[in-house]
Amino acid sequence: VKYNQAQFITSAPDISKLPPDTGIEVAFAGRSNAGKSSALNTLTDQKLARTSKTPGRTQLINTFSLGEDQRLIDLPGYGFAKVPLEMKKKWQKALGEYLQRRKCLKGIVVLMDIRHPLKDLDMDLINWAISSNIPVLALLTKADKLKQGKRKAEVLQVRRALAELNGDITVHAFSSLKGIGLNELAWKLDEWYLGP
Ligand code: GDP
Repeated sequence: VKYNQAQFITSAPDISKLPPDTGIEVAFAGRSNAGKSSALNTLTDQKLARTSKTPGRTQLINTFSLGEDQRLIDLPGYGFAKVPLEMKKKWQKALGEYLQRRKCLKGIVVLMDIRHPLKDLDMDLINWAISSNIPVLALLTKADKLKQGKRKAEVLQVRRALAELNGDITVHAFSSLKGIGLNELAWKLDEWYLGP
């Protein structure tokens, strides 16, 4: 799949405004500031997603086309400290609906800062995905911030913790800055879009 040919389709305020539920979608999700926009931009070699957005703005589901009925989905970041409870609930509902109802969703990439992974909302998301039989690729972002030994230890620890959930979960270190894990990301996406 040629990720550098990704093209913006639309920004949807909720799942009813998404493109038709056909073909294959892969969604990116993570706490705000986890490095999701940077990962999407690095993968596609384009400035697709805005980095470091102001928290609390209208949260939209951004969709990008990769070709014949293959889409990348940029789900709104979660976990903003200052967002009102109402908005949090709304977002959780939209996320839950997307995960549970979207038939073309083939896999979800969950981005977590390698220095503080597996927060409550990350676990909610991963558990939702597993209970909906959606494979998960967990990317431990900003891996360049840790020395190699610590980085490997962190990956192993997250792998061990997630293995207990008995789902289809893959864990890799990732850095947009240094290109760490970029091949692993593209291989997993290729598997989801094209089959094993
Ligand atoms: P988003 O809110 O999840 O979309 O996160 P962004 O992509 O906007 O990144 C949040 C912050 O983390 C920004 O200041 C980025 O420059 C920084 N960041 C993102 N990826 C990396 C990375 O691979 N390494 C380092 N050191 N910083 C990163």
